[in-house]
Amino acid sequence: MTKDLVKKIKMIYERNPYSKTILRQIHSIASDIHSRESIESIKIMNFCGTHEWTISYYGIRSLVPKTIDLIAGPGCPVCITPGGYVDELIKLSFEDYTILTYGDAYKLPSTRSSKIRSLADARSLGGNVIVVYSFIDALRIARENPRNKYVFFAIGFETTMPSTAEPLYKGIVPKNLLILSAYRYTPPIMKYLLEVERDVKIHGIIAPGHVSSIIGARAWSFLPEKYHIPTIVSGFEPIDVLISILLILKQISLRISRLVNEYKRVVRDEGNLYAKNIMAKVYDVREAYWRGIGIVPESGGFLKEKYKEYDAFYQLGLKETGTFDDIMPGCKCSEVVLGKAKPIDCPLFMKACTPEKPYGPCMVSIEGTCRIWAETIPIITSGNE
Ligand code: SF4
Repeated sequence: MTKDLVKKIKMIYERNPYSKTILRQIHSIASDIHSRESIESIKIMNFCGTHEWTISYYGIRSLVPKTIDLIAGPGCPVCITPGGYVDELIKLSFEDYTILTYGDAYKLPSTRSSKIRSLADARSLGGNVIVVYSFIDALRIARENPRNKYVFFAIGFETTMPSTAEPLYKGIVPKNLLILSAYRYTPPIMKYLLEVERDVKIHGIIAPGHVSSIIGARAWSFLPEKYHIPTIVSGFEPIDVLISILLILKQISLRISRLVNEYKRVVRDEGNLYAKNIMAKVYDVREAYWRGIGIVPESGGFLKEKYKEYDAFYQLGLKETGTFDDIMPGCKCSEVVLGKAKPIDCPLFMKACTPEKPYGPCMVSIEGTCRIWAETIPIITSGNE
């Protein structure tokens, strides 16, 4: 069955003259690099969960040569959100507060020390938890119920940060709505990965398209300039990813490292100046804990003093940092988010840990590598030739 699937995938790409040409070039340059350089395996990291989805769902691993290893990075905000935050919100859901959370974080596991495993479990036990689609939803609910008290679980990278920052900046957030800001900045985690986790060898990086639409392509220039890694800001269509792989290979072959913005139809070099300006006014950038990784300098977006009346950390005396207590025994998420392991290296994958009953944080969100692999397993296990 899997061989048939690979055949079908290859036929689809062969029918399109663009993808056919790009794939031929990928194979030719990869083979040339392999014969000339001492690179056993060309490791290309895609930062973003949505790129991992494109690569997995559209069978791109089965199309590229075996010498190319496409590895997923830390670009799933739900996966890296501290379990300690979930613990605090679970407690609050049984007190005076209603927790407003994205569906993505509803099943996010708490820490080992919490008896209740997630906000979903808290709700089933009588806790007050509501799933919202956006911060606008949260604003509406809080406004319509002025006697109730709410905490919004603000998870995400730079893509979602402006949606909370703007209403705060404009002064239109009702007083009965607190915000637990779990926001994280993405360039610092790539710096951390390259400085601290040096055993992760990366030859090329596919930088996130959505995040870059806010922070700008230029925000990634440090990757080629300081670390000499070819870096492509990429769109999310399969053809975008193939072009990005090809552009990385061309740079490796020429022994150069540049930043290229392949996603010019959406991403500007300077980013979205309005959003960046508002974010700078609302968030303080401080060190922050990334689940399974550790404390990363200048990577957390916490509310500035000016907005402390909305700050759940300040108002409720919650803890900002976390501990490794939030990775359950046997779960390899710490390695998965750093590109050191693949979901199938985890003995719990699709056994004790499934999308229906996630055991570790990487199985929860559709941007989590384990969840993506779980959803696309026949394509992934087809392999390449
Ligand atoms: Fe963790 Fe589950 Fe992924 Fe294993 S399969 S690394 S337990 S999230």
